[in-house]
Amino acid sequence: MNYSPIKMKELLEKHDFNFKKNFGQNFIIDENVITNIIKKSGVDQDTLVLEIGPGAGSLTYKLSEYAKNVICYEIDTKLQPILEETLSDCSNVKVIYQDFLKSNVLETLKEYNYKKLYVVANLPYYITTPIIVKLIEDHISVEKIVVMVQKEVGNRFKANSGSKEYGSLTVFLDYYFDIKKVMDVSKNVFLPKPNVDSIVVSFTKKVQVLTAQNEEYFFQLVRDSFKQKRKTLRNNLKSYNLEVVERVLKKYDQDLSVRAENITLEEFIEMSNELCKEK
Ligand code: SAM
Repeated sequence: MNYSPIKMKELLEKHDFNFKKNFGQNFIIDENVITNIIKKSGVDQDTLVLEIGPGAGSLTYKLSEYAKNVICYEIDTKLQPILEETLSDCSNVKVIYQDFLKSNVLETLKEYNYKKLYVVANLPYYITTPIIVKLIEDHISVEKIVVMVQKEVGNRFKANSGSKEYGSLTVFLDYYFDIKKVMDVSKNVFLPKPNVDSIVVSFTKKVQVLTAQNEEYFFQLVRDSFKQKRKTLRNNLKSYNLEVVERVLKKYDQDLSVRAENITLEEFIEMSNELCKEK
């Protein structure tokens, strides 16, 4: 694959391709940045990679060199002739033209043998959270998710309790993953150039030390706690046994006047487990 921006423009023009904003199409055109992302993510010959949104195939082409197999999901069928051209040498890549959010990934995975399953993707900001939620809810046993997203979206994933970005999503992600910033990526390496820089973030599956005994209940408790962000737990958790909640908070030198943004993952888990015991 030729990574020069001029060649990429020529290729897209040849196929009469127009970028679609609603699909968040900004294609990466810098080979060094791509290689760096793949090396830092640890993809190797034992890895099956799911790539969401291959675009014109810039990341896919390199992934095919490093990984055992690559399965891509691309929503935009206009990219099919382009991908057939750029990935013509890549026999270990399969492209499925479908909305990833509606796909049956587990069924597709049955056709593959692999030791590690990674997700690697350069994603439009609006789809990042639904994708991670789908991976969790569909019980797809992904060891690592490496995503390139707009900088402020990336920072939200890594928020600490007490910060304004901290919310129920941060708690869910923290429950399942160790989250790390991998690298910064300048907006100048994309075609078309977006307004903001990007960040690569990795989510590595936690070997869970802390476990909620009833995960569904735990997730509902967290969602309810953040229902009205400016309200206290006393207000948001009216339908729960507040005596139990208060008992747990006391252990952490807090009371019912605290807001969910100041509750850590550990506290939420303990609260959930204690509430379940008294149900
Ligand atoms: N991976 C390519 C790259 O880095 O150059 C393209 C990245 S571009 C930011 C995002 C890609 O995701 C586009 O090709 C877009 O069509 C695709 N996409 C958007 N929503 C999608 C969805 N729900 N399912 C599958 N692909 C999607």
